[in-house]
Amino acid sequence: MSGGDMAKPLLGHRSMEGDPSITPAAGRTVGVLGSGDFARSLAIRLVCSGFKVVVGSRNPKRKAGFFPSAAEVTFQADAVKKADVIFVAVFREHYSTLCDLADVLMGKILVDVSNNTEINHHKESNAEYLASLFPACTVVKGFNVVSAWTLQSGARDGNKQVLICSDNQEAKRIVAEIAQVMGFTPVDMGCMSSAREIENIPLRLLPAWKIPIFLALGLFLCFFTYNLIRQVIHPFIREKKNKLYKIPIEVVNTTLPCVSYVMLSLVYLPGVLAACLQLYYGTKYRRFPDWLDQWLQHRKQIGLLSFFCAALHAVYSLCLPMRRSHRYQLIETAVKQAVEKMNIWVEEEVWRMEIYISVGIIALGLLSLLAITSLPSIANSLNWREFSFIQSTLGFIALVISTLHTLTYGWSRAFDENQYKFYLPPTYTLTLLVPCTVILAKIIFNLPCIQQRLLRIRRGWEKGRYVKFVLPSATGEFSSGETSSNV
Ligand code: NAP
Repeated sequence: MSGGDMAKPLLGHRSMEGDPSITPAAGRTVGVLGSGDFARSLAIRLVCSGFKVVVGSRNPKRKAGFFPSAAEVTFQADAVKKADVIFVAVFREHYSTLCDLADVLMGKILVDVSNNTEINHHKESNAEYLASLFPACTVVKGFNVVSAWTLQSGARDGNKQVLICSDNQEAKRIVAEIAQVMGFTPVDMGCMSSAREIENIPLRLLPAWKIPIFLALGLFLCFFTYNLIRQVIHPFIREKKNKLYKIPIEVVNTTLPCVSYVMLSLVYLPGVLAACLQLYYGTKYRRFPDWLDQWLQHRKQIGLLSFFCAALHAVYSLCLPMRRSHRYQLIETAVKQAVEKMNIWVEEEVWRMEIYISVGIIALGLLSLLAITSLPSIANSLNWREFSFIQSTLGFIALVISTLHTLTYGWSRAFDENQYKFYLPPTYTLTLLVPCTVILAKIIFNLPCIQQRLLRIRRGWEKGRYVKFVLPSATGEFSSGETSSNV
């Protein structure tokens, strides 16, 4: 198996039956040093996958009961002698205690499965440290991204990828083969210098989500404070009315759609800015500023958070009639209506509400579609054009429909001076700012004269350089703008 082969998922749809590169691994004797959680799960998985397992412990008698009967539990030196591939399932701090085994370990393959407690904890990676302690052995880094739990569940659940690196191709091939027989997908990460990167992977906490989460929290905080001033503080100061009960549901429920709507527009805004830069410079071969690059890379997470807030908004809205305060207000209105014999049916309000809810449901449906198709397993089943159509075209339609939802919610309130609390306009008017800019920009980019120029730039044309081009028609292959580049 070449390095290139290992980079591809090896299980997938490829049948393992009859593959000559796989059968010899099963039946091989594999050693495991250590008898802790990882060693035990590894031994169970190896036994289930058809390997002979010999576990090396400092206290084999005490630990034997924890292992399957098919695995031999013996002293460390004895175990090492019986296997050519040995998994070192002990912590880095204890590697030096294994130095007594240096003679028996000579010429063997050591698999370093260790993790650290901090990113870049030591100057050299654990695997490089192990290699320095045992120069007569071949060290392979691998299996550290797989948890003891995943090993026990047999790769049916959890992460299936096993990242492997080593300076020795043959040793790497053997370990990759073992991983494959165990039901994992070995991924070649190159030579030993990648060990540090592999060791850092399990320590990362949602790196791609940090910026989008801070963005969502920042927006939530801003809109929440704004709504709090309008819905709670204003009535308290002006009318001495205690409206604190509105905070847990009403204020939160007016904040969530604002965050969701603005976040959705922030998915499409960087594409607009990128297009502006391309038009301005007249080329696509000029790097975007770093902040724009970062923004473009985080669009998926921003979109998913937008969907999350929209889904919460839907649930909160459905729960509004359950509140006691709502019931009291309903009864109060009914009594008032009976006493004053007034007709509270306002045709315009009825229509506004019907359209507002219907449009909101459609927007949520489209956002769900966008969220589902951004999942790797679903995205992999779509071709580029289908993916782009859903994420780009349907996404933009979702933004337009969300704008209609917001406008029908606001209706004429922006022109009612009673709606301006402390001179602050209704929240929905603020949320419209970015989405409407994006929609307007998209409409402008679709004007034939601008669209043609953008298409030419995305096909490689540059301002000031003569390149002969035959463009597809505006309604042709690249008519949806963003499909012709990765923007
Ligand atoms: P553990 O439960 O604490 O087991 C460590 C084992 O190391 C002990 O059972 C002990 O076995 C052995 N050992 C050898 N020399 C030792 C010494 N001088 N002092 C103490 N123990 C010594 O730890 P673990 O969770 O199995 O983790 C083992 C390695 O796997 C670590 O490097 C860890 O980073 C890595 N790992 C673990 C997981 C996981 O999910 N647990 C996931 C990925 C990677 P004997 O007493 O039998 O000698």
